[in-house]
Formats: sequence, structure tokens, C-alpha cells
Amino acid sequence: MFVDTHCHFDFPPFIHDIEDSFLHAAKVRVTDIIIPSVGIENLERVYLLAPQHPHLYAALGFHPLYIANYLPEHFTELVALLQENSNKCVAIGEIGLDYFVTNAVVKQQQTLLIQQLKLAKQYELPVILHSRKSHDQLAALLRRFDVPKKGVIHGFSGSLSQANAFIQLGYFIGIGGVITYELAKKTRAVVAQLPLRSLVLETDAPDMPLAGFQGQINRPERIRLVFEALCNLRQESTEEIAGQLYNNSLQLFNIKKGRHNMS
Ligand SMILES: [Zn+2]
Repeated sequence: MFVDTHCHFDFPPFIHDIEDSFLHAAKVRVTDIIIPSVGIENLERVYLLAPQHPHLYAALGFHPLYIANYLPEHFTELVALLQENSNKCVAIGEIGLDYFVTNAVVKQQQTLLIQQLKLAKQYELPVILHSRKSHDQLAALLRRFDVPKKGVIHGFSGSLSQANAFIQLGYFIGIGGVITYELAKKTRAVVAQLPLRSLVLETDAPDMPLAGFQGQINRPERIRLVFEALCNLRQESTEEIAGQLYNNSLQLFNIKKGRHNMS
């Protein structure tokens, strides 16, 4: 069984038919999907979507690449939603740093991230972190502004020492479609060496198409292919990998599984 720990399920084509889209994912044994918001554009949409299906969960927050549209009153809106949380909001995300873009507004990104890390601490929620060309700076910030429930570095691509820095701080590493590409030699080599207890799976659908699906819309059911690519890089049995990553995901987002909600 799988949890897609990072899927923009509130975007087309999924949003047009939530039940049917989830059924496709459930066929490859995806039991739950975590949906991160990116900005004020979809904050409320994600918040309202999660309670509509028993196996959808929301992460609320402001993505660093949407900072141009960000206004202080959006933060008030975020706090208001966290206060009335329907208990389907399981994380603060997608938040972080992105220094890849030209003219990255570094200072503003950091300020917004710190504000949201403080919220995560206050509401005792884990964080879903986006990081591009900023792993070292992000690790430094996470050391200074500790959050009790930790979180995940989503769609990780970086060096072994950068991954280990996050793991030592207590964070999970989100494994996505990057590892399906033969050319991603560095990331594949790093992922092969990380402890299983620190990994979770994700698709980032509808973004981040897998190898062989370039130019197509990515889908949560393709998590199965990310999993297979991971298994090819690892020594452990497929059962052990699946079991450990599934438990990691439930633990990270505090999702309780009883006998009656496994279907
Ligand atoms: Zn994303």
C-alpha cells in the first residue's frame, strides 16, 4: 500500500472527478493522498476538498514561488483555517525556499518560511518543504526554527551530505519521479544509500512526469512506478520497502488506520 505524500489533487484533471481519480489511484493500492496548497489561489480549495473524501488530507501554506501574489492578510486567512481545522489538515505546506529562479526574492522567501515554521510549531503540525538550490540555507533555518513534528523535504534532489543533514534534523526525504530517469545518476545514487526509515513516496502530480511519460500529465497511480524505481536501487525486499515507507507516511502525517478504514 502507498500514501502519495505530495499530490496537487485540487488541480485539473483530478478536481473534475475526485471519486474517479481516487479510484484509479486506489487500483494500485494508494490508500491516502496528501494535497499541499501553494498560495491564496487554492488555500481554501484544498481546505474544503479534503473533508469531501475520507482518504484525502490537506496541507496548508504558501509556496515560495507564489510569493509575488502574497499579501499579509493571506497569513490571517491561513491562521483562521488552522483554527477551525476540520482535522483533515495534517501539515503546513507547501512552504520553503527556491533560489533556482532568477531574481529570487531571498529575504522575503525566508521571512515567509520562518513565519510558517512558527505556525507549524504553534499548531503542532509537520511541514512539507520545497527546496531548490537552497538545501544548505534551508537546513540552517530548520536548525534555528525547530518544529516539533518535523516534516518532509519533498521531491528531494541533492547530495548525500545534504540529505543526511535533513535526516539528522529529523526530517523525511520525499522520493519522487526524478529517480525514474536514468540520467538522474546523482540523486539515484544518494537515494540508494539513505535509511529506509527516513523515506516517503510522492508523485507531485499533475507535475513532474515520470521517465517515459514526458509531456504528459502526471497521476497519483504512477507512484507505483516511483516505488519500482526505488526498489531497483535498493537491497531490501519490495515488501520491506513498501511496509517501511507506508508506516513512515502514516507516522509523519499522524494518519490513524483502523480495521474499518483500510479499504
Ligand atoms: Zn508540489
